[in-house]
Amino acid sequence: MSRVFNFSAGPACLPEEVLREAAEDMLSFKGSGMSVMEMSHRSLAYDQIIKETEQDIRTLANIPDDYAVLFLQGGATLQFAMAPINLSKSGKADYITTGHWAQKAAAEAARYTDVKEIASSEGTQFDRIPDLSKLPIREGADYVHLCENNTIYGTQYHTLPETGGIPLVSDQSSCVFSRPLDITRYGLIYAGAQKNIGPAGLTLVIVRKDLIKAELDHYVPLMLRYDTHIKSGSMHNTPPTYAIYITGKVMKWLLRNGGLNGAQKRNEEKAGLLYDALDRSQLFYSPVKKDSRSLMNIVFTSGDEATDADFIKGAEALGLMGIKGYRTVGGMRASLYNAMTRTGVEALVSYMKDFERSR
Ligand SMILES: *Cc1c(COP(=O)(O)O)cnc(C)c1O
Repeated sequence: MSRVFNFSAGPACLPEEVLREAAEDMLSFKGSGMSVMEMSHRSLAYDQIIKETEQDIRTLANIPDDYAVLFLQGGATLQFAMAPINLSKSGKADYITTGHWAQKAAAEAARYTDVKEIASSEGTQFDRIPDLSKLPIREGADYVHLCENNTIYGTQYHTLPETGGIPLVSDQSSCVFSRPLDITRYGLIYAGAQKNIGPAGLTLVIVRKDLIKAELDHYVPLMLRYDTHIKSGSMHNTPPTYAIYITGKVMKWLLRNGGLNGAQKRNEEKAGLLYDALDRSQLFYSPVKKDSRSLMNIVFTSGDEATDADFIKGAEALGLMGIKGYRTVGGMRASLYNAMTRTGVEALVSYMKDFERSR
């Protein structure tokens, strides 16, 4: 059986080792005689899986006890609403808009709280992270929201804004656990699992517990309250059991491969290979400002639609899949998440060079 190199932005590639382990467990998990998929979420065996996964996340990212680690559903998109619903005490929140998802987050939040856009890179087609040095953060704002890696435009924060103690709320859907992080800078981190850490169906939420509003309007569904999920250990209802199990395996894979420092080193090497090739290319270029380049999603183009289409077609013929850019942006996008191997990136770079030479 042959596998392709999957550069899809999400759902995305998973470590082959993890898939093999899951295959081994498929029919009978640890002698239980059943698949994890068939197991009661209240069973002893599953209790161990979810608790271990949480513990491994805490170890990996150094998350202290004053933060809750939650396994939710509804994607990052539901967090666009849950964050303002649960965190807006003063009723105002400031947003930095660096792309499609950041704008979606701000628009959704505006249905629940007073949103102010305090910086944007829309004026330059989202080709950069805007200047963060003089953000007009409002006094008493409940939080500052940012989208830490812009999956579609291929930009990423390499430093966090100074907020004078106002907590950051960060959408890390496409960069979570790709590099070390200082959790104390954040009030809330959320991420759909399907890009960098697991399968679709799970949304990881890490939230500082003291920031959560205790009194919420009675019509807020219990499912949309962080405190519901904290009290029940993410077991208010059936959690996405299999997605949590696979994510747990990915956490163990990260831990035995040097943790987040190891991940960062590999991710920098991989992205470096592709950006170097782009910088040397006479045909392809990255539209992203150098200091804002994403290590996860690398956007590039020849500037000519037909050439880009040829390139994508040729890539697929070689088993280099999922490199078509986002539908509104065009061009190419190679997603080099944690699970993408260096070999995969080398194959892409080598094809790029061949393609350019053949023209
Ligand atoms: C994919 C993505 C989303 C949307 O995630 P869903 O889990 O599909 O809701 C939000 N933010 C970012 C940064 C993304 O990459």
